[in-house]
Amino acid sequence: MPALMLQISELAAGQHYPTGALYVVATPIGNTADITVRALHVLALVDRIAAEDTRNTAQLLARYGISKPSIAVHEHNERSAAERVIEHLRHGERIACVSDAGTPGISDPGARLVDAVREAGLPVIPLPGASALTTALSAAGAWVSGFSFVGFLPTKAKQRATQLRALANHPMALVFYEAPHRIVETTRALGEAFGGGRQLLIARELTKLHESLHRCTLAEGPTWLEGDANRQRGEFVLVVEGAPEAQDADDAHDALLSTLLEELSVKSAARIAATLTGASRNALYERALKLAKRDEQ
Ligand code: SAM
Repeated sequence: MPALMLQISELAAGQHYPTGALYVVATPIGNTADITVRALHVLALVDRIAAEDTRNTAQLLARYGISKPSIAVHEHNERSAAERVIEHLRHGERIACVSDAGTPGISDPGARLVDAVREAGLPVIPLPGASALTTALSAAGAWVSGFSFVGFLPTKAKQRATQLRALANHPMALVFYEAPHRIVETTRALGEAFGGGRQLLIARELTKLHESLHRCTLAEGPTWLEGDANRQRGEFVLVVEGAPEAQDADDAHDALLSTLLEELSVKSAARIAATLTGASRNALYERALKLAKRDEQ
């Protein structure tokens, strides 16, 4: 091993890694080389690995020459699997939590396990590393200052439109994850909800062979994607510019009213919107009425 690498791995090994702790370890999002020295050290040190998909993780770890007993911790069993993890931790084991790719808990299992371990009074130790979220943002540019992470939108068009309406006046950039078969539809829905003028970054296959980062407006996004079938393949992060600062108050009221109208009558929606915004109840009633009629058509 070159001298510098040796020094770095000694640094990783020199740290104290308590027993009875859960280590939340980020793994690569594509390029196997994007693993940290400390992650490798901890993955080699732990007694067991709590993995989203034990077979995937075994394959990944084999590439680093690591093989460990594992516990499956996925979306459908996170609570019950957490009990097993806690039992092992109470016996003094170190356990690493990893997801299929990137950082656990970011649109991936891990968060409920973290809650349960912390509630059990045991330490949770994060090891930073790759995430599609930060990778895309790092190459977005200065138009993104603050941001909010949305992750995957609902797949049903109506629910997606409701969520997007609620986000329409959000002043910060928004970051979405999307699968290839929905990328055109979602990009179009973003334009419909936010208007076509905002900046969009389409980050595809980050760190992989066919990586591409394309910046355009929301109006241009679907056309660009449809211009070549290859542009719709792979994994995607979408970064969308936040709402302009001087947002028309009427738009903000409409977004709020539309969300309230999903559950409430026109009258109740107007009353609650008036309480929340301080705007006139009558004016809000008129707007709510118009929105309800539009939705009926
Ligand atoms: N935990 C992961 C993270 O830290 O980014 C995210 C897991 S989530 C189940 C998978 C989604 O993340 C994909 O559908 C895609 O939207 C995004 N993603 C993951 N890897 C990516 C990559 N290499 N390039 C672009 N997007 C990626």
